[in-house]
Amino acid sequence: MKQEISICWFRRDLRLNDNTAFYHALQSPYPVLPIFIFDPEILNKLADKSDKRIYFIYNTLQDLDTRCKEQGSSFYVIFDKVEDAFKKLLQEFEVKEIFLNHDYEPYAIYRDQGIKKMFEAQGITFHTFKDQVIFERSEITKADGSPYTVFTPYSNKWRQLFLGGKIEEFPSEKFLSKMLQSKRYDFPSIADIGFREIDLDFMPLNINESTISSYQETRNIPAIPGTSQASPYLRFGTLSIRHLVMLAYKWNATWLNELIWREFFMMILFHFPHVIDRSFKRKYDNIPWRNNDKEFELWCKGETGYPIVDAGMRQLNETGWMHNRVRMIVAGFLTKHLLIDWRWGEAYFAQKLLDYELSSNNGNWQWAAGSGCDSAPYFRIFNPTSQTKKFDPKLIYIKTWIKDFNKYHLPPIVDHEFARKRALDVYKKALSEE
Ligand code: FAD
Repeated sequence: MKQEISICWFRRDLRLNDNTAFYHALQSPYPVLPIFIFDPEILNKLADKSDKRIYFIYNTLQDLDTRCKEQGSSFYVIFDKVEDAFKKLLQEFEVKEIFLNHDYEPYAIYRDQGIKKMFEAQGITFHTFKDQVIFERSEITKADGSPYTVFTPYSNKWRQLFLGGKIEEFPSEKFLSKMLQSKRYDFPSIADIGFREIDLDFMPLNINESTISSYQETRNIPAIPGTSQASPYLRFGTLSIRHLVMLAYKWNATWLNELIWREFFMMILFHFPHVIDRSFKRKYDNIPWRNNDKEFELWCKGETGYPIVDAGMRQLNETGWMHNRVRMIVAGFLTKHLLIDWRWGEAYFAQKLLDYELSSNNGNWQWAAGSGCDSAPYFRIFNPTSQTKKFDPKLIYIKTWIKDFNKYHLPPIVDHEFARKRALDVYKKALSEE
């Protein structure tokens, strides 16, 4: 007879503590098998076999497996198409229930609906939960039930609901003994999933009261670790958003606001999935982007001749992360100074960022290009030189990432004043067209 079990399917919630779906799974009457599926359909699309994200996930899973093995269980890491992986599990076990946390990206929604159908057709209960945000989907809407498209009223309502409610706790870590003990799975090597080990120290988390309580003074200075550096950890769910929001509430309202921006963009993507390949504000699709390949390449490599732009791109290429102030500068530079389509920049970031998040990346790129729901007005064009004077006056950040700065004599790819006027003309004309 096959053993009766429950499955908890981990995806972007890679932690054993305070995990909503896992907590509920552990309350079920059956032993719980925690699983993660590396889907070849996704992995095969990644040309870089040293991809930092895969390495990050792989390392995290290894930690989870170690903790599970200490409990006499194991974390089952599977390399297979999602549907095939589940078919095999159904052959091996009498699966009674499956638990997972919501994912709001269009591809994930589509995939999860297919899996749900497959399970329900066999009488297996499919339980899903909110976990990666405080408020999801349509929990925060205008009075008439329609979604907000402007951040400030959204964030006001968010705070109002947050203060009026209570953060629930899901102490899954207290019930680990309820995991399946009868079967131990070997942990795959990174080569088994088609990737390579890389020499990379992940950036340390910087969440402590002294940093966060002075966040509004330090957040814009890229030379210092004045932000939390939590983004990759939030992306893969190694940190619980409920925990972070409680800290933010205690320590700093400005930082809390940033966490609300994250949810705002997730909500926008959920309600307006057209933003994936089109401008939120349709008129911006009239802009005749110059899309010069050579200039794009120089931007990607960090060779535009604008030190702050080049330092940012080199930080990204080297570490998979870039400071937010510099992200805004490089994105504005690409879209306004070079008049290159924001989708090109978005795609490059998507390929490189360790914290790559479709909703935040898209939302922020569209913000920089002016095409987004609550964007910078198109005529706001950052001057990279004055941004440097303001935020990196001693060139500390620049010299950190342009290592041979004494030998850096690249001529600017385009003159700022010329590019500013050109962008204003092009935008103005495109936006006045019907
Ligand atoms: P902190 O300043 O400590 O903020 C805490 C958390 O709040 C972040 O970890 C993040 O989850 C959230 N947050 C902060 N700023 C924003 C913002 N503007 N929009 C949405 N959420 C925010 N962030 C991503 O997580 N993934 C992306 O793919 C991404 N792409 C971006 C692309 C561009 C062009 C720009 C300008 C910004 C992008 N951001 C993205 C937002 C922001 O730059 C990063 O979240 C931030 O730099 C991460 O550093 P931190 O964790 O130290 O942030």
